[in-house]
Amino acid sequence: MSIVEELESEVRSYCRTWPTEFKEAHGAILTDTSGREFIDFFSGAGTLNYGHNNDLLKQPLIDYLTSNGVTHGLDMTTSAKTEFLEVFRSRILTPRGLPHKVQFPGPTGTNAVEAALKLVRKVSGRPNVVAFTNAFHGMSLGSLALTGNADKRAGAGVPLDHVLRVPYDGFDPDVDGLALLDRMLSDGGSGLDRPGAVVVETVQGEGGVNVARVEWLQELSDLCRRHELLLVVDDVQMGCGRTGAFFSFEEAGIVPDVICLSKSISGYGLPMALVLLRPELDVWRPGEHNGTFRGNNLAFVTGAAALRAYWSDSTLEKSTGDLADQVRERLTRLAGSVGADVSVRGRGLVQGLRFAHAPTAAAVGRRAFELGLLVETSGPRDEVLKLLPPLTVDGARLDAGLTVLERAVRELA
Ligand code: PMP
Repeated sequence: MSIVEELESEVRSYCRTWPTEFKEAHGAILTDTSGREFIDFFSGAGTLNYGHNNDLLKQPLIDYLTSNGVTHGLDMTTSAKTEFLEVFRSRILTPRGLPHKVQFPGPTGTNAVEAALKLVRKVSGRPNVVAFTNAFHGMSLGSLALTGNADKRAGAGVPLDHVLRVPYDGFDPDVDGLALLDRMLSDGGSGLDRPGAVVVETVQGEGGVNVARVEWLQELSDLCRRHELLLVVDDVQMGCGRTGAFFSFEEAGIVPDVICLSKSISGYGLPMALVLLRPELDVWRPGEHNGTFRGNNLAFVTGAAALRAYWSDSTLEKSTGDLADQVRERLTRLAGSVGADVSVRGRGLVQGLRFAHAPTAAAVGRRAFELGLLVETSGPRDEVLKLLPPLTVDGARLDAGLTVLERAVRELA
């Protein structure tokens, strides 16, 4: 029995899914201690959009470390923080005309969501928030209350409340969730305690690669304006270029009041999160929301380097579109040849294969691992294989991964 099985809590998960010991990683390849290589279609659940140990980010990090740059400083001003904010403004906010201010919460996605929740409740004075079916926003109690998955919710051990659940786009073909919400908010007899905000993912990653249509997102934004609800987009997994543009909502032309970012914002897999808020919402008192690890300076260094390297022009966005077409085409052909049991869903470089017979998805994932590919499942029944290759993967490597996946699907579907 390995020390992991002996000592690490039963709560461990990915080490069960992929039972080997990884030693090195570069780009889209992970290598285990026996020297075996795996193509990575997981990318740290969307944390490694620029691949493992990206050389363009590694050197600035090494330089910062060797010059004794500040590693930890709560939210004190450091050269690394100043630099990150400058680059974030010039490469991301200004070109998109976003007036938002930047809050550094604790370094995880759920930290960003908790900060956003606290803020919208403070601003609106209303405790209730709208969240959607199959949403995933994190494991701490506030975020978990927004999360849809019953198994995850059951872990809370206390009531998860102050959330109004609305069907996401496509949840039920016969139910228009937004029309219902609109009606309920407009009718004084609906019994609805007025919510203060809506929290939404543009593509639900954990929920099964459910893609909201652009028109649906626009309708949601319009509804929020009409009913004076703050719109929070959780771009923790779909932001930083996963769907093509830097923010996943750009395609819909909407401007959220609050945006949560984490995962790939540091670019290097270092913990970091941001909350972007419209300036008029910045009603925080100094230190009212805090946390010891708000200023991960190493993440600021790699984050600034990533924005410089990949978001100074539209090269990455264009190549993500091309790679997405490549994945989509092969998956569509594969699904067509396998039959009605398998369907394709996704946007940009998050694509999913959904299996009508849910257990097949996990079986294909297991087989893919044996054949040298990491790909995980998502969805309420783990019925969707979610493909998240690094955005920087080259076409040939992407093809090689798809070939492995295709073989696994053909063997099992
Ligand atoms: N929001 C979304 C959309 C996510 O996908 C995740 C993580 N999968 C989170 C929040 C939570 O992030 P973390 O695990 O870093 O707390």
